[in-house]
Amino acid sequence: MKIDRDYTLATLARLVQINSINPTLAPGAPGEAEIAAFIAGSLRACGLTAEILEPVPGRTSVLGRLAGTGGGRSLMLNAHCDTVDVPGMAEPFSGAIREGKLYGRGSYDMKGSLAACMAAAKALKDSGAALRGDLLVAAVADEEYGSLGTSDMITNVRVDGAIVTEPTALEVCLAHKGYLWIEVEVTGRAAHGSKFQFGIDANMKMGQFLARLSELERDLRARPAHPLVGPPSLHAAMLNGGSGLSTYAASCTLQIERRTVPGETGEQATAEIQAIVDALAAVDPDFHATVRTFFVRDPFEVPADARVVQAVDRAIAKVRGVAPAHIGDTPWMDAALLQAAGVETVVCGAGGAGAHADVEWVDVESVVQLAEILAEAALDYCG
Ligand SMILES: [Zn+2]
Repeated sequence: MKIDRDYTLATLARLVQINSINPTLAPGAPGEAEIAAFIAGSLRACGLTAEILEPVPGRTSVLGRLAGTGGGRSLMLNAHCDTVDVPGMAEPFSGAIREGKLYGRGSYDMKGSLAACMAAAKALKDSGAALRGDLLVAAVADEEYGSLGTSDMITNVRVDGAIVTEPTALEVCLAHKGYLWIEVEVTGRAAHGSKFQFGIDANMKMGQFLARLSELERDLRARPAHPLVGPPSLHAAMLNGGSGLSTYAASCTLQIERRTVPGETGEQATAEIQAIVDALAAVDPDFHATVRTFFVRDPFEVPADARVVQAVDRAIAKVRGVAPAHIGDTPWMDAALLQAAGVETVVCGAGGAGAHADVEWVDVESVVQLAEILAEAALDYCG
């Protein structure tokens, strides 16, 4: 499958040059409207149809479609088009290439892969190959915060398989971790700082909880590791207690992040925290605390023999001449949402470094190779 290299590199440079910082992470940032207009225009010029989806004003995704002849499996190539903020970056929007690396915010996470998705669709259109199933290019908004784009898309679009193209250096990622945000609020009793007989110190009580939580934290990491993503973990991310120096603290609040592995549920992870609270309350009548899980993202895992995995494996072997490694990764991705919606999903993307860091770059050759891999995988999967 012949990839249009000039189109791929010009598209990648333009994508990086358009500021698409997520405005929920950086208030006042432009969001995805401008980059979505560019993507939709570029896909249409390549001969695809392109639909703009905007579940929230300014939070724009694009769904490009190369219609199949009918009767085949449909495949979504998924890439997010938002980025994190750019403070500290010397050249956030340059798109300059030096020694095979293209620099700028989002080049690696993940406009390189987005350019490859677009170039793969163009290659299939240019080749005149007749796919039976539809090929979809989903350039989604807001992956870096709340995944508005993919969440909205899976309610509106029926698709059989998906390749989420978060960067994997052209290896094949079959699993990632999930996470929960859990709030524990310990309540004490406010009193004048001199009146120890009346006060119950919520911060001291939280100390008891934290000691137990740290035992749980060690226990989690000692559990049998998931073969691809390792053991579960947690950290005491944010702590806030007390209202003044001469007042017994009436309340202390802790926000915990718990990272889950495939096979664990949010209910189990919450129950482990609740068990600590219950054990402390059983021996101390002055220990009062509530546990509230306020955000859950499930882990992701796909079997190695899933059709979409096999299609990507075969495409990589054909393009690169070597079988890919099957890997896992720790950060959460949109893959979990697609898989949970009944879409068989795998993760495979470009190579590079510097996601969310001051210097970010993508390996240009890996972008061109990824485009060819995605086109071959679509031929295989969509029939
Ligand atoms: Zn990403």
